[in-house]
Amino acid sequence: MSERVIPLVDHRAVGPGLVLPNHPVAPTGQLTDTLGRPLRDLRISVTDRCNFRCRYCMPKEVFDKEHAFLPHGALLSFEEITRLSRLFLAHGVRKIRLTGGEPLLRRHVENLIAQLAELRTVDGTTPDLTLTTNGSLLARKARALKDAGLQRVTVSLDGLDDAVFRRMNDVDFPVADVLAGIEAAHAAGLAHIKVNMVVKRGTNDHEILPMARHFRGTGTTLRFIEYMDVGATNGWRMDEVLPSAELIERLRAELPLVPLDPTAPGETAERWGYADASGRHDPALGEVGVISSVTQAFCGDCNRARLSTEGRLFLCLFATQGHDLRGLLRGGASDGDITSALAHIWQGRGDRYSELRASLPAEAGQGTRRVEMSYIGG
Ligand code: SAM
Ligand code: SF4
Ligand code: SF4
Repeated sequence: MSERVIPLVDHRAVGPGLVLPNHPVAPTGQLTDTLGRPLRDLRISVTDRCNFRCRYCMPKEVFDKEHAFLPHGALLSFEEITRLSRLFLAHGVRKIRLTGGEPLLRRHVENLIAQLAELRTVDGTTPDLTLTTNGSLLARKARALKDAGLQRVTVSLDGLDDAVFRRMNDVDFPVADVLAGIEAAHAAGLAHIKVNMVVKRGTNDHEILPMARHFRGTGTTLRFIEYMDVGATNGWRMDEVLPSAELIERLRAELPLVPLDPTAPGETAERWGYADASGRHDPALGEVGVISSVTQAFCGDCNRARLSTEGRLFLCLFATQGHDLRGLLRGGASDGDITSALAHIWQGRGDRYSELRASLPAEAGQGTRRVEMSYIGG
């Protein structure tokens, strides 16, 4: 089949040229990649900036005053994000997560949420609309986000001890303000609130039990994330990873837990329910999750695509290159062209980094060209 190549127009990082099939590809909602994985989950980074400097994500020495964040004109506009989201939904996306950087730093992000809330999936339903935040601005913004149509929120919180938390965010931000943000999210009616805790052995693993006790029975689901080798700046070391299996053992020694079934295919977290005295899951006590991105690869049903702040499409969290969709948008491509490009890109996807990690050379863990999580979105 003859193909048309649309040249890249951006010079920040060289990505692969976008190739369009000559015949337009109509969306069927059933797109699959080379491993048969559907496209269901779209994560959109709305800013590369953040008011925290978590060492595992944006270490201060690298993301300092000299660091060149993207100028406003480089960012996808709300209209561009909404247009792309509509085309992604036609290919079968059901869930849209806004992330960053810190998404609540993007001015009037609630206006974007209002636009996205108008869109529909191929089944005619509202897409599952959620957002991941460090919680610092949530107390102020929860109500406006909910009113705009946000359904759920995930708050990152790495410990309850104020000194530990201030050290981890590295900007001396107090834990009380994040807890107030979580309260505000509940009060605003945001459902299924999740708290994500990245666990680094020797840094905050002593906070695992206090965090579990604090959120048990509150309706907030705590999820523990293995510290990952994303990006190229966090100085990742395997000995700082606390394997989820060990974490669950530590929890079970104090709090009875029973394994729960996954709620959806492609779910990243393994679920554990708090048990009652008879050893059965007690829904009133809730559950915890573990995300074993390092020790237990879950690429087999990975249905996630990531749209970077400047409109590059990444097919894997560990990808080194993205596909320049902003070039298409600003080059005057039609909806049909973009739909075809998305189909072509996803159909060619074979990424499964986490499954391959163990067989890669050790230095691959800190590749120099990998994109940062703050740019690609978590
Ligand atoms: N600023 C927002 C926040 O912190 O929730 C959204 C963006 S942040 C990049 C998204 C998620 O990625 C957060 O839950 C964060 O803890 C997680 N994350 C960042 N770097 C990580 C790493 N090296 N390993 C595991 N998780 C990481
Ligand atoms: Fe900011 Fe989130 Fe990264 Fe922490 S994890 S530096 S809050 S983007
Ligand atoms: Fe998906 Fe890539 Fe993570 Fe595997 S490593 S689960 S393909 S994002």
